[in-house]
Amino acid sequence: MQFTDLNLDKRLLATIEHLGFDKPTDIQQQAIPAAMNGHDLIASSKTGSGKTLAFLLPAMQRLMNNRALSKRDPRVIILTPTRELAKQVFGQLRLLAANTQFKSVLILGGENFNDQAKTLAKDPHFVVATPGRLADHLTHRHLYLQGLELLILDEADRMLDLGFSKQLAQINTAADHRKRQTLMFSATLDHAQVNEFASELLSKPKRIAIEHGHSEHQDINKRFYFVDNLEHKEKLLSYFLTNEAHQQVIIFTATRSDTERLAQLLNEQGFNSAALSGELMQSQRNQIMDSFTRGQLKILVTTDLASRGLDLLNVSHVINFDMPKHTEEFIHRIGRTGRAGASGEAISLVGPKDWLSFKNVEGFLQQKISFDSVDGFKAKFTGIKKKKPLKAKKVNDKKVHSKKQDKRPKQQIKQKVNFVSDSAGDLPVMRRKAKLAPQDIDESNE
Ligand code: ADP
Ligand code: MG
Repeated sequence: MQFTDLNLDKRLLATIEHLGFDKPTDIQQQAIPAAMNGHDLIASSKTGSGKTLAFLLPAMQRLMNNRALSKRDPRVIILTPTRELAKQVFGQLRLLAANTQFKSVLILGGENFNDQAKTLAKDPHFVVATPGRLADHLTHRHLYLQGLELLILDEADRMLDLGFSKQLAQINTAADHRKRQTLMFSATLDHAQVNEFASELLSKPKRIAIEHGHSEHQDINKRFYFVDNLEHKEKLLSYFLTNEAHQQVIIFTATRSDTERLAQLLNEQGFNSAALSGELMQSQRNQIMDSFTRGQLKILVTTDLASRGLDLLNVSHVINFDMPKHTEEFIHRIGRTGRAGASGEAISLVGPKDWLSFKNVEGFLQQKISFDSVDGFKAKFTGIKKKKPLKAKKVNDKKVHSKKQDKRPKQQIKQKVNFVSDSAGDLPVMRRKAKLAPQDIDESNE
């Protein structure tokens, strides 16, 4: 299939040609016609497979084909979990909109609220935003969504993970009319929370799943190394940076404070690195991302703030200095390399504190993972063995119970057993429900 087979306006085709794309990717081939036919979509495909154009092209086309429902309200809203991703999507949108009459604006947390109100008063057709800030503007009646035709949620699952379901519901309610179409995109859209949410927001959605988040991304070479402790991690990290040919590198740590510390350490060792975290002022965040995008900065040390969506073509290595707390972020983190058919290396360091997260990732990927090692950096740690099955213990427990008479309500006793058996089984679910310490979450938005 060619782009010319998709019934797209010639102005859009001209931009695509200018971008140098030969043919639509798989997700584009399927999602573009489905979206143009007016379906709500839950669409997933692997990282770096062109999801952005898969929603931007039908959105542009819809505006060209149809008359606006309202003269003033935005016609398309695109939401993303982070400011950095919103900026990137906005950049692509601007390219597509360049030859058209459509106005687009970017509304992000961390920027001047009143300036944004003025921009919104100019009645843009497209709004690209982070959900918290857009919801604030709705509350202040800086925009109305009765005329909204298309609501697009990029990295929808991550927005839910970050706790934006309330804001998303508010946006949904403000645009609650029959002509609205809703599109959800991510590489990982197959967990229960997403389905529940989708059933609220979408009507008779069509599901398009090109490749599951679980399945192999053939172009990314995943390697895992045991480590004993923090010092061991740091040594191994310098070893890789010194001995492996690389272009740009993204290093993911568990917490914001670790990003600073590690970036400083690497700079002391003569590497060119900077820390990006939600703690920084927006101007600093912009400056760091700009210099990384331009290639002046070689190594970006960050949290899951940067795990989603960022399209950085020269990232040859992703290093999980710490394993991710949210299992599916593994897929997204390593997906910062191997973009658009390129190949990449994904190195994960697994110490005792990472073990549970590692096991979750292993379960999520549905494969047995084997570990690599580097001479001179072998770890004593080789994983934590599973506890003995509960069976034998249960007999003992029974005895104890019969002697002592457990006064707890039945429900409570049962719960405890469930919890123990869960920890050997369905871990991703448990992790998702677990509350993370505030310092572990890098709030990327407001
Ligand atoms: P995803 O959202 O699936 O992670 P992106 O939309 O960020 O992927 O696209 C990844 C890269 O692929 C971008 O650099 C984009 O410009 C490029 N790309 C998109 N569509 C095509 C295409 N049809 N052919 C070649 N490259 C493409
Ligand atoms: Mg994307």
